Amino acid sequence: MMWNHSGHLEAFLGVPCAGGILHTLNLRLHAHEIAAIANHARDRFLIIDDVLLPIYEKFREIANFERVIVAPYGCGSVPHGFLNYEELLAKAGDDFVYPDLDENEGAAMCFTSGTTGNSKGVIYSHRAIVLHSFAEGLVDTFGVGQHDTVLAISPMFHANAWGVPYTCTMVGARLVLPGPNVDAESILDLIVQERVTMACGVPTVWIGVLDALERNPGRWKVTETVRIASGGTAPPLSLIRGLDRYGLRIIHLWGMTETTPLATTGRLKRHMLEWPEEKQYEVRAKQGWPAPFVELRVMRPEGEAPWDGETPGELEVRGPWVAGNYYESPDQAHRWTEDGWFRTGDVATMDAEGYVKIVDRAKDLVKSGGEWISSVDLENTLMGHPAVKEACVVGVPHPKWQERPLAVVVLKDGAQVSGDELRAFLGKSFAKWQLPDAVVFVEAIPRTSVGKFKKIALREQFADWKWE
Ligand code: ADP
Repeated sequence: MMWNHSGHLEAFLGVPCAGGILHTLNLRLHAHEIAAIANHARDRFLIIDDVLLPIYEKFREIANFERVIVAPYGCGSVPHGFLNYEELLAKAGDDFVYPDLDENEGAAMCFTSGTTGNSKGVIYSHRAIVLHSFAEGLVDTFGVGQHDTVLAISPMFHANAWGVPYTCTMVGARLVLPGPNVDAESILDLIVQERVTMACGVPTVWIGVLDALERNPGRWKVTETVRIASGGTAPPLSLIRGLDRYGLRIIHLWGMTETTPLATTGRLKRHMLEWPEEKQYEVRAKQGWPAPFVELRVMRPEGEAPWDGETPGELEVRGPWVAGNYYESPDQAHRWTEDGWFRTGDVATMDAEGYVKIVDRAKDLVKSGGEWISSVDLENTLMGHPAVKEACVVGVPHPKWQERPLAVVVLKDGAQVSGDELRAFLGKSFAKWQLPDAVVFVEAIPRTSVGKFKKIALREQFADWKWE
């Protein structure tokens, strides 16, 4: 249970090489959830940052660790009763014999971030991590090489910071770990000071970064283009376009904790470089095509959906770094087909070029009078309005239509716009029945533990909404 820093990286490598399984704990969860997850995984040793001990105090009574080892990087001292991580390392001899491990043994473990419900655990084998690292080195995915300086903003407990620490170690790239300082300004300072060439993080991080760049003209000078791996939710097209202006080029990826996580990237194909700019942006906003060895298909009750970019179905995925089950959760076996395809719960389309577009999570689609409305398309279009900083659309119960879309909007500093103006703006791209029936302005949209918009919280907040 640590922030992103060098001690955590040592654990990423040392624990699996010693024959253990590294289970990264999500420090942003409720203390009781952390304990429940650690107990479910039967974690034996806890390595924890000194600054996180107050969280540990909240769950120490219900957790079952044999030993608690404290990394003294924040306050520099370790309270009585705990082991000191640095002292243990200093005392260790150099006669440790590394076990000869089978590549199919577990190396690491993560729980899903729990956006739509309870977190579920996934174990990554050594084989999966090694193959996944190879894939992230490919030019058509992240293209990480020894010349790179990579800033891992995604927490190391969120799908292993998307595998980036392993990939960087494998290829010899320079890895920059920001510790707890992941606000937009600190990120931009690091990008400039460390001459970062690639960074990874969820779109809400990049929305904040773009906002900071726009509010402070000339403060950060990015001299070489930085590749920005953005995944976890779909980045609005306006964000991709906006960051391009500052030399931050989004590589869109789709993945899941269950897929280690890289499964697709939305890179342009060679012949698309000739296409008009507008069309290129449309492609880059899609989730893209699968990395080598990853198979994808969009399934409907009657079989595979046609590759027409229109017919939606459930996205299924299969491959050497796609989990084959959830840790000790037999009730979840239905998520896999008999021949090993994982049912993602994401609704998607596939176009003639083989690019996947995520329409929505099945649970987030707004079910209105027998029709489905994509919350993602609405919110990403709203975020293209010059007055809007953040927008989130959720389905709210409706007496006649079952659900209707409600838009929750955060405006940019000093900006003003009415709900009707925003609805008229959306009306240029959507049919009338798809438009949110209400627009609510708020100071902030709640986030999940990994920085996604927390739609569950908004649905609860507006469950009793009185439609006019
Ligand atoms: P959780 O499901 O709890 O959020 P993960 O962090 O593993 O846990 O999230 C995986 C899910 O995130 C995917 O199933 C998908 O719904 C969403 N996701 C990931 N990348 C993208 C993307 N590029 N565009 C849209 N949705 C994405």
